[in-house]
Amino acid sequence: MIIKPKVRGFICINAHPQGCAANVAEQIAYTQAKGPVAGGPKNVLVLGCSTGYGLASRITAAFGSGARTLGVCFEKPPTETKTASAGYYNTAAFHAEAEAAGLYAQTINGDAFSQACKEQVVEKIRQDMGKVDLVVYSLAAPRRTDPVSGEVYSSVLKPIGNAYTAKNLNTDTLKIADITIEPASDEEIAATVKVMGGEDWELWMQALAEADVLADACQTVAYTYLGDKLTWPIYGHATIGKAKEDLDRASRAIQSQLKLIQGDARVAVLKALVTQASSAIPVMPLYLSILIRVMTEEGSEEGCIEQIQRLYTECLYNDEPRLDDKGRFRVDDRELNPAVQARVEKIWDQVTEENLFELTAFKTYQSEFLKLFGFGVEGVDYDAETSPLVNHNF
Ligand code: NAD
Repeated sequence: MIIKPKVRGFICINAHPQGCAANVAEQIAYTQAKGPVAGGPKNVLVLGCSTGYGLASRITAAFGSGARTLGVCFEKPPTETKTASAGYYNTAAFHAEAEAAGLYAQTINGDAFSQACKEQVVEKIRQDMGKVDLVVYSLAAPRRTDPVSGEVYSSVLKPIGNAYTAKNLNTDTLKIADITIEPASDEEIAATVKVMGGEDWELWMQALAEADVLADACQTVAYTYLGDKLTWPIYGHATIGKAKEDLDRASRAIQSQLKLIQGDARVAVLKALVTQASSAIPVMPLYLSILIRVMTEEGSEEGCIEQIQRLYTECLYNDEPRLDDKGRFRVDDRELNPAVQARVEKIWDQVTEENLFELTAFKTYQSEFLKLFGFGVEGVDYDAETSPLVNHNF
């Protein structure tokens, strides 16, 4: 079939296998060019390994540190007539590259929130890896089934306390208009914490500790975003921010659990960038279009792989990691540079539909978004007859 993007709102419902493979190859090349991560991990579990920050974490572990990697993701395989999800193609491409490099790689495609998945992972580690020395928690999900009660919780992206009105860019119509988002109810706040908070991270670390598959000095890290004034009302100080605050609680609980093996648990604060998860957040596409413009001009713009390379070398595997007063790793330093934020705020106030392309990097935002699904990648022939099936299934 000829595979062209089918965009529906903030999601693209198909993906291109060769485009996704090219993206993975590009990230691997970046990691290899950076050279080995001194003292890096050897046996790594990545929860949420197929796209965005989790995929970059897996690539950095494998190709920057020669690590054996076990990944968990929730992705749709292809059929004869339908493409797979981008994360499926990314993972298939990762497996092909890892195999070619002689690196162990296994992936479990299932619901990471379930008890069954945790048991499967423990079994796999026992069989193939012995113990893991790094556990990356990079799940981004809209809902979670509680493994005990079976109840399904859905997260919401809403402010807390008061309604919030802000400029919003409709990425389909390119209209910029104020949107008002009503505040979340207490029940919605609690449900968002249940989905995106620290409970599942704790359950994972408990299951791995009880099964005795955590190596001495094992580290675990969960990802968060804090942002600044412009995004606080819809992120930092909103439902998702509440859920992310719960990661700080969980990291302390896991830290005390890991003391026995001299292990460590930290939250890592990463920068905002275009991923499937962030494009679903109101306000973010416009904020990102401006941020990309400003950071590119400042020479400080980074994608997932650059951020994770710095997380490994400047924080996780560094004797003097950059920590904040809450003990979190900080890799969002360049985004939160006051000069960058001041320029972003200035453009934010000025931007309209008429000057969108002139004042912001919306074009780059759009191409980054399509690239997530393997479209618009240099060197890929999008007019060629392409099979949605791939060789390295998992
Ligand atoms: P993403 O959507 O690209 O990746 C999410 C991953 O979770 C995918 O691998 C997906 O398969 C997996 N997943 C989702 N539901 C699952 C389930 N039930 N079982 C197993 N796997 C499941 O998201 P991302 O933007 O890379 O986000 C990863 C983490 O980084 C999140 O915690 C997010 O809050 C954080 N973060 C993101 C940004 C950003 O701007 N994108 C910034 C800072 C921090």
